[in-house]
Amino acid sequence: MQGAFDFAAADLRRWRDALVRAFGPPPTGPRRSPVGQLVKSILSARTRDAVSGAAFDALVARYPDWRRVADAPVGEIAATVAEVTFAEDKAAYVRAALRRVGRERPDFDLDFLRELPLADALAWLERLPGVGRKVAATTLNASTLDRPVAIVDTHDLRVLGRLGFVRPGADARAASEAVTAAMPNWSGEEFLLFHLLLKRLGQVICRWDTPECGRCPLREDCPTGRAVTG
Ligand code: SF4
Repeated sequence: MQGAFDFAAADLRRWRDALVRAFGPPPTGPRRSPVGQLVKSILSARTRDAVSGAAFDALVARYPDWRRVADAPVGEIAATVAEVTFAEDKAAYVRAALRRVGRERPDFDLDFLRELPLADALAWLERLPGVGRKVAATTLNASTLDRPVAIVDTHDLRVLGRLGFVRPGADARAASEAVTAAMPNWSGEEFLLFHLLLKRLGQVICRWDTPECGRCPLREDCPTGRAVTG
């Protein structure tokens, strides 16, 4: 398992259960179409969910379909999603990705990704402008496709590193592959839940600057936390 130490599936299930006890089950919200989730995920980088969600809603309200977004000027798209970070760059990526999708799938229907082997589905998405592993995994997992693949964002990666689940320097791709491989029987919904729980932990307790290990539900399993709290 590239990038990961030797953890058992039972460890991840125990962490998930402890996080559910601490935070409650996170709301997962309505699932978007695959192309809608692709666009939302491109808008989401380094932006709070509420802000990127509002930007996505504004985009959908302004344009009647994805073809119109693909044909719109970048500046117009950027003005529509202006509240997200790097709005100009993201607008350019959204348009370029949608143009590429539209050339290959004129109906913008990405349901075919449900049937491809996971690695092929990820690779198909990662050819698109602005799409790395996190956006590709989110498109497959958090959309109506509901595919069992781990989403790993910066919060998840930090927590997984401090827990020792991934080796120092492992990137989000390696971490996603490690979590996905560790849990071959998890459903798409279980992977999404695990991502949201780890993210919550990273946002409120295992923050990058000051982890509060003393109140962390995972501290007994965490070498970083044990070193801090004794
Ligand atoms: S014990 Fe500390 S370092 Fe480990 S996951 Fe919890 S907050 Fe992060």
